[in-house]
Amino acid sequence: MTIRLYNTLTRQKDALTPLNPERVTMYVCGPTVYSRAHIGNARPAVVFDVLRRLLRHEYGADHVVYARNITDIDDRIIAESAATGMPIDAITARTEQWYLDDMGALGVEPPDIAPHATTSIPAMIAMIGTLIGRGHAYAAEGHVLFDVPSFAGYGRLSRRPMDEMIAGARVEVAPYKRNPGDFVLWKPSTAAQPGWDSPWGRGRPGWHIECSAMIAESLGTTIDIHGGGQDLQFPHHENELAQSACAHDGAPLAQIWMHNGFLNMGTAEKMSKSLGNIQTIPELQAAGWHGEVLRLALLSAHYRKPLEWTTTLLEQSKQALDKWYGLLRGAHPDAWVADGFRSALSDDLNTPEAIFELNKYSSRGQLGYLQGSARMLGLLRLEPQEWFKWAPQSAANDCLDETRINAAIADRTAARAAKNWAESDRIRDELAAAGIILEDGPGGTTWRRA
Ligand SMILES: [Zn+2]
Repeated sequence: MTIRLYNTLTRQKDALTPLNPERVTMYVCGPTVYSRAHIGNARPAVVFDVLRRLLRHEYGADHVVYARNITDIDDRIIAESAATGMPIDAITARTEQWYLDDMGALGVEPPDIAPHATTSIPAMIAMIGTLIGRGHAYAAEGHVLFDVPSFAGYGRLSRRPMDEMIAGARVEVAPYKRNPGDFVLWKPSTAAQPGWDSPWGRGRPGWHIECSAMIAESLGTTIDIHGGGQDLQFPHHENELAQSACAHDGAPLAQIWMHNGFLNMGTAEKMSKSLGNIQTIPELQAAGWHGEVLRLALLSAHYRKPLEWTTTLLEQSKQALDKWYGLLRGAHPDAWVADGFRSALSDDLNTPEAIFELNKYSSRGQLGYLQGSARMLGLLRLEPQEWFKWAPQSAANDCLDETRINAAIADRTAARAAKNWAESDRIRDELAAAGIILEDGPGGTTWRRA
């Protein structure tokens, strides 16, 4: 099945034709690790996790290489360290772990390669040296700058006129710059700032060169897919494209450039009170939303469109999952990925259409298709009984735990055997008041959280 993806570079859906189908390569710009991610940051992680699952299904699990970098040197990290007194490496290690935990809660699998900026400095220095040698960059006052007019293709990706790009980049006017749009590849560090020795003095890399160098180092000169949020189109990806083409004799950095839209968190008035300022994934989970609910909600709109983030959306997503898990309880079907579902995802990752297909399988009772297809979206990963027993961590601590519930069920079973219906009803009502619903079936009594 041909996968077609909307390519920002060509402004159309292009057929994906991997340079090497045995090694399909994808790179997504990862987090700058200085503070905890909010739910909006999770959208690209989830979207490209789905694309990776589709690629693995179509090309084979061992034939896809997915890299997502960690930006662990950045002025915001330096500022966070200065403000809190916490060492830089402690901030970056803690924040990276938060990111992995939070994305893991949404069913996002870690990438195959996670290059870190601080361990790829030699590759960046080498690429900067090449750019200077080829006349595309110049050193001035401890800085190295990319010479924008030296690359005729500049602006091809974001398709903006040069004056607009210069204004959009909010460039610093600096006496050492030849042209106002020139951007920093290397900048000097003070003794108090982290820095590395280089031919241009002790300093640190600019953000854009990081990805160009790490892509070349971890995946190769030209990759199949490059992704990120739409805010990265300019200047970040425009600059990556220019640097890589100039360092590699014009070879393109990526065949297909993909950009996801934003979450619309709405204004305070528009937001329902219960969602309020809850923005991090642990906060949303503590408020009662399972990671799969958040994941389904994030996939409910097409990735290129904005997504209205509301309580209603989360409630609808939970209802859909409750229904699907309810159908699968005790069913254990053989899981298959349905063709209709595959073609929806292969059409520029049309997740709303793919979810429509899941609802179709659910209403037709095609449980094998439902299970297999949903798993490719990273949904229905739990055993149904696990799903219905899930409670947020904080709530689980104050309410009945599993041992006490099972003990109460055993008491009730004994009361029923003794035909003590009053006692049996009392136990049922007491559990119901604590949010535990009992369901009597041929195999005995099971329970779920309301
Ligand atoms: Zn990047």
